[in-house]
Amino acid sequence: MNCFYFSAFETDCKSTFFQPTAQICVFGVTCFSVYLCRMLVRDIHTHRANAGIGSVRNLSLPEAEQLLQTDTDGLFSVGVHPWNAHEPVDWALLERLAADPRVFAVGECGLDKYAQASLPLQTDVFLRQIRLARRLDKPVIVHCVRCFNELLALKRQFPDSPATGTSKDNLGFCFIVHGFRGKPQLAEQLLKQGFYLSFGEKFNAESLQKTPIGRRFRETDESDMTIDEIESLV
Ligand SMILES: [Zn+2]
Repeated sequence: MNCFYFSAFETDCKSTFFQPTAQICVFGVTCFSVYLCRMLVRDIHTHRANAGIGSVRNLSLPEAEQLLQTDTDGLFSVGVHPWNAHEPVDWALLERLAADPRVFAVGECGLDKYAQASLPLQTDVFLRQIRLARRLDKPVIVHCVRCFNELLALKRQFPDSPATGTSKDNLGFCFIVHGFRGKPQLAEQLLKQGFYLSFGEKFNAESLQKTPIGRRFRETDESDMTIDEIESLV
């Protein structure tokens, strides 16, 4: 099973999601707190409402506004998809929602050659979300279709996102390219610049192989397959 362990220990805990949730009892003595700091993120990007534990469910702004008003548990990502970049964005609302401790990442957001909005407009909307993620120290879930040169150029403006990605502790502000299907050369380029790559139902096997375990994620996205089935593809 290929999985990515996300961990953040006591002092690195940045959200109430990771507050102590239980006491552990050893030999009858409650001796230390358990932090929900080490958890398994198995599915970094899904649109399923019934996504299980360890899944990061992607929400549109209206969906997030509704759902985060409730006490629903889980991990979520919220952002403006490039396909919606031509529509007006309620930035104050996005900022408020993205700060919710249950929101693990900002996105999916990015650049798409086939989106209705012009590339400069998409870039503007994307940049605002990257800056928000950096302020909140959360990952950015990146949607990128045929705009990888532009993405690589944009990333150079954010050299503070992990350059090596060797630490599995406290993921924090970083770029995760979701649904990566690119060739190994592109994977190498992205990895060199500090990107994480997420692989779904369809992927290039050689690219997956070239991606260190600590830099890769799995996702179901909109697939009918379960995360177990997707993990078993490799
Ligand atoms: Zn998606």
